Amino acid sequence: MNSVDFLLTNKDITYEIRTKIKRLGRPIADLIISKTDVGKSRNYSRNLNSSVYDIFKWLCGCPKRNKLFCFICLVMRGNPSAWTQEGNEELISRR
Ligand SMILES: [Zn+2]
Repeated sequence: MNSVDFLLTNKDITYEIRTKIKRLGRPIADLIISKTDVGKSRNYSRNLNSSVYDIFKWLCGCPKRNKLFCFICLVMRGNPSAWTQEGNEELISRR
């Protein structure tokens, strides 16, 4: 019930259910997100590190979409943004 997919596909979740989901906590999915940056002398490869979940306590992951979301905004219907709609894959750990 506390999955990103559930929150994204069910638009009419009651406040009661939302509170329940919030209590269940955020889904921390091990996503495979890899990015390659082109550098001057070499390219840099960056991978999502699960420690980002420790750094950003609001972060949650959707294994179906392989994207990151803001759990609080998803549950409490925050302002529409990449963090609540299509998901983000830009926030990845330092090199
Ligand atoms: Zn948020």
